[in-house]
Amino acid sequence: MKHADFCILGAGLAGLFLADSLTDHNLSSIVIEKNALASGASGTPGGLVNPATGRRAKKSWKAVQCYKAIAKNLEKIQATTNERFYLNNGLLRPALLEKMARKMKNQHEKTTWPSGWCQWKSESEIKEIHPGIECVDGGLWLPIGLTVDVGKYVQAYAQWLRDEGINILTNQQPLEIHHDKKWHVELGDSTIATKYLVFATGHYTPQSKYWDWLPINLIKGQVAKFKAASGPLSFSHSISSLGYIARLDEEDTFVQGSTYEHDFEDLNPDQGGEDYLRKRMHRTLPELEKESKVVDQWAGVRTSTPNYKPILGEHPKHKNLHVFTGLGSKGLLYGKYLARHYADHLVNDTALYPEVNISRFKD
Ligand SMILES: Cc1cc2nc3c(=O)[nH]c(=O)nc-3n(C[C@H](O)[C@H](O)[C@H](O)COP(=O)(O)OP(=O)(O)OC[C@H]3O[C@@H](n4cnc5c(N)ncnc54)[C@H](O)[C@@H]3O)c2cc1C
Repeated sequence: MKHADFCILGAGLAGLFLADSLTDHNLSSIVIEKNALASGASGTPGGLVNPATGRRAKKSWKAVQCYKAIAKNLEKIQATTNERFYLNNGLLRPALLEKMARKMKNQHEKTTWPSGWCQWKSESEIKEIHPGIECVDGGLWLPIGLTVDVGKYVQAYAQWLRDEGINILTNQQPLEIHHDKKWHVELGDSTIATKYLVFATGHYTPQSKYWDWLPINLIKGQVAKFKAASGPLSFSHSISSLGYIARLDEEDTFVQGSTYEHDFEDLNPDQGGEDYLRKRMHRTLPELEKESKVVDQWAGVRTSTPNYKPILGEHPKHKNLHVFTGLGSKGLLYGKYLARHYADHLVNDTALYPEVNISRFKD
């Protein structure tokens, strides 16, 4: 029998962020991951921290708090490993149509950004930053944009948490869960007894009998790693226009994302995914698309909700049974800040933001 204040199912971004924030309150957690680390959506080889999202580049929800929380954590974990998993390399958002430029510009004019975060650039300025890029009537430059190899980040983060004393068990899953005074999680060779049980189980969450009533949409996303034939690339920033191009530190490779597949039969990457990604890349960087070959392809599943916000909170009928999921395509941006918000709620009973509170849904 193992004892902990919290048992968290799932060692993706949600589970790790939450375990970390609970430790800040001196609470113990055991994290159980049914597969290997970074095997879920949090294995994305190239993801962006981008607070100006969508075609209009709208400032995302709680953008400043969320950005600061993830930027600080990336910096802290990066300092513990020689393996580089993120770059503070800026993000270019060129408009590809007149209408898109107009909407982006209007949005930018009515938004207050912290100084230097998000700048409107004319077409010629965008092309000066990135010669050869397709652009119509201008776009945005976000010097604060971050690019992350999420899978490598999760590996390094889990190692750091283990060094801090958090027990993370991989390739294990509950055979049975039951409650009497405490939650008991049966693992086969051991049982975990815990006051609180949290499902941070990503796209598996709706498969649980406790959470099958939540309105979670599953969206498969494929990304591909490309290598340019002509050698080192001439740019170091990432790009978000139609899909995104994530530049990490290998000189001649980059990651192109992503598909949004609402109907899918399996979780594997496929030729249809590569074709789609190539079309998207061709619209932004036609020359690069022609000379690049796929060297790796990857697929994961996002969990999205009707208001595109995560789900946090206690089960309406089962005491001390919680869920933290629905991070959609903003797991990096939202996850760290919301884990802290959630831990504060669990410990100090502070109110959850209504936009993310599970109470917005009924069982
Ligand atoms: C193609 C793609 C591109 C993306 N790009 C970006 C981006 O640019 N920026 C950004 O911020 N976000 C991005 N995201 C989103 C981000 O990756 C996710 O929001 C985030 O990884 C979700 O984390 P999670 O912990 O909720 O889920 P997951 O990472 O899926 O983790 C859930 C874990 O729970 C485990 N599990 C499930 N059931 C059990 C059980 N019963 N017991 C134990 N363990 C269990 C699973 O094995 C899994 O490891 C992208 C996602 C995809 C798919």
